[in-house]
Amino acid sequence: MAKKQRIVIALGGNALSNTLPEQMAAVKITACAIVDLIEEGCEVVVAHGNGPQVGMVNNAMLALAHEDLKQPNTPLSVCVAMSQAYIGYDLQNALREELLNRKIKDIPVATMITQVRVDPDDPAFKNPSKPIGRFMDQEQAKEMAARYDYIMKEDAGHGYRRVVASPKPQEIIEMGTIRTMVDSGHLVIACGGGGIPVVRQGNHLQGASAVIDKDFASCLLARELDADFLIILTAVEKAAVNFGTPAVRWLDNISVSQARRYIEEGHFAPGSMLPKVQAAIEFAESKPGRKALITLLQKAKEGIQGTTGTCISLGHV
Ligand code: ADP
Ligand code: MG
Repeated sequence: MAKKQRIVIALGGNALSNTLPEQMAAVKITACAIVDLIEEGCEVVVAHGNGPQVGMVNNAMLALAHEDLKQPNTPLSVCVAMSQAYIGYDLQNALREELLNRKIKDIPVATMITQVRVDPDDPAFKNPSKPIGRFMDQEQAKEMAARYDYIMKEDAGHGYRRVVASPKPQEIIEMGTIRTMVDSGHLVIACGGGGIPVVRQGNHLQGASAVIDKDFASCLLARELDADFLIILTAVEKAAVNFGTPAVRWLDNISVSQARRYIEEGHFAPGSMLPKVQAAIEFAESKPGRKALITLLQKAKEGIQGTTGTCISLGHV
C-alpha cells in the first residue's frame, strides 16, 4: 500500500468565524472539509489562527481587571493559551462528530496545547505590527497605554487598536509529543493561534507578549513532521497578482522563484496574503517534493486533487 500523504492544514479566520455561536457553526463546515481529506486517504494535522478569539479573550480579561482590582491584567501569552483551548475544544468536538457520522471510528482527535519558542532579539519586538482587540478613541487609547503599557496605533481611520509583536517561530516545544500522536494515527490539532509565544530562560519558558503568525507556525510544524503538503485554507480560492484591480490574474501552479518575483513586485498584502506566500515558499523549498497550496476552505479536496488553488513548488530546475 502506498504511504499516506501527510498534510498540515492551516485554518484561517473564516474556518472559525468571529463570535461564540458563529464559531460553533463554522467548525462543522471546517470539520467536513478536513474529514473529506481523511476520506481521500490523507493523514491530516490541523493548525489554526486565533485573531478574533485572542482579541475577545484579551478584552474579557481586561474587563475582569477593571472589575476586580485584585486581579492583575492577563499576559497575552495566557490569552493565546486560552484561545487555543477554546478553539481546540470546538474543533475537537466537531471533528469527532463528523468522523463518527462517516463511520470512521479508529481516529482519535486531540488538541495539543503548544508553546512555540521565539527569539527575544527578534526585530518584531521593536516594531509591533499586529493589531488585536477592539477599536478605541484617542482618549481611551491613551489611558490603555498609560495603564497597561500597551502600544496603541491608529488603524486606517477606524480608531486606535492595541498592536503586538509578531515574531518568527523558532521551535515547537511540544514537537516530540505531537509527532508521537500523529505517528500513531491520531488527528492532532496543534500550534493554535501560531502557538503560545515563549522565550527560553534556562529551564524556564517565559511567556512573551506577542502573537505568532499562524502561517509561519504551520510551516514549521509541517517541516518538523516531514509533511508532503502544507495547505493554507483561507477566504480566497487562489492568490492573485494585481489583486483588487481589473487586471487581477489568479495564480494556479507557480514555482518558488515566480512567487518570489511576485512578492518583490508587491502583489501580496502584508499581514494577509504575504505571510501565506512566504510560508508556502519556505515549505516548498525546504525539501524536494514538498508542495504548498493556498485555497478556499470549501475547496480543500479539489485542491489536493490538483484542480484548484494556488500551488507553490520548487518547479523545474
Ligand atoms: P486568514 O484569516 O485566512 O489568514 P487573511 O484575511 O489574513 O485570512 O488573508 C486572506 C486575504 O488576503 C484574502 O481574503 C484577500 O482579501 C487578501 N489578499 C491580499 N492580497 C491578496 C492577493 N494578492 N491575492 C489574493 N488575496 C489577497
Ligand atoms: Mg491571516
